Amino acid sequence: MTKYVKINKDMNKRINKQIKEYLSPDYIYLPYNNKDSLNVKGKEEIYKNSIVLANKNKFVYSPVSGTVMGLCDNIVDGKNQKTIVIENNFKENVSKSSGIKKDPYNISKNDLIKIVKSYGAFDENLNGKTLVINGIDNEPNEATFSYLIEEHTDQILEVVDALINILDIHKCFFAIKDSDSNNVITLLNQMGTYPNIELKLMKDYYPIGNKDILIKELVLNSKMDDGVVYLTVEDAFNIYNVLKRKTPITEKLVTIGGNLLTKSKVVKVKIGTRIADIVADEFKIKKDEYHIIINGLLSGYEIDSLNAIITPNIRSIFIEEVNTEKPVKCINCGLCHINCPVSADPRYGINMNKCIKCGLCNYICPSKIHLVGDKHE
Ligand code: SF4
Ligand code: SF4
Repeated sequence: MTKYVKINKDMNKRINKQIKEYLSPDYIYLPYNNKDSLNVKGKEEIYKNSIVLANKNKFVYSPVSGTVMGLCDNIVDGKNQKTIVIENNFKENVSKSSGIKKDPYNISKNDLIKIVKSYGAFDENLNGKTLVINGIDNEPNEATFSYLIEEHTDQILEVVDALINILDIHKCFFAIKDSDSNNVITLLNQMGTYPNIELKLMKDYYPIGNKDILIKELVLNSKMDDGVVYLTVEDAFNIYNVLKRKTPITEKLVTIGGNLLTKSKVVKVKIGTRIADIVADEFKIKKDEYHIIINGLLSGYEIDSLNAIITPNIRSIFIEEVNTEKPVKCINCGLCHINCPVSADPRYGINMNKCIKCGLCNYICPSKIHLVGDKHE
């Protein structure tokens, strides 16, 4: 294995053992841009899972039943954007349900691609002979994937096994960290039932959960010619739900933590929920001044307000103390270069086209110099 870095334990935030549910927000906010065609009108009463927006073969579904209220601004994946506001009536009315399908895995590859895309489960490459399932959280302070495996091991293994058939996969790797002890035991016990899935226990080094790094570690370059299908365990679980229930993906798990929250939790939320509402109901922020960091303390980005919404791209939210440490002069120790997983040298801008923005150089620099990406201070 290439050299990667073991992150100090203090980067790991203590997380509550149980998944917390926050599934009844007063309002839902769905991102809208001018290219979308609007399927609803102001004041219209809509069902849960009804189509609110459409763009070619992609659709945005309502995670609640309720009333369409109009538009307002919110932060969507780090940028200001208009969102459609839906007031929740808490009835969870659904228009029609096709129920549980009897043989959901008896479909062609083309049908699979169509279904998973239109229901918002997966919209990337499904062509290749090697399937990589990533069960490793992207950052050491996130527990979203680990909790998802713990809660839904059977469903995830079932759908991965089915995908091997539908996609005509020749080799399947399921990667988790060797330190993810509960999941290691459960998965090892189940592997006998799934001979086509090879469990890979990866050393707990950062950034092994990164897509490119994991694929490089698992798949020899020669086999890459046949193509790699890459799914996170979240993608796999979403595909399971779409195939089994024929309903869109409107909920997800998010790790919420940080040194200014009294507790860290993995929370099940509806897509389109405002982060401010979750934090106000479930957490207490210890100070008035704080940073909000999305998708990890090492490689995440900062937003300036809690008026941001949960999108399918959000894995974690951290509320962190304002950092008063000032950078000092570079001592030319070379650590930023030696530890870079793609052998870039951020000091001199060498090989930065390969940079995966993992943030390891920032973390490791003894002079506290911020070399790459968003600055949280
Ligand atoms: S240069 Fe890029 S890839 Fe290398 S450690 Fe820094 S952020 Fe990570
Ligand atoms: S890790 Fe920091 S101090 Fe060391 S060479 Fe890189 S920039 Fe300079």
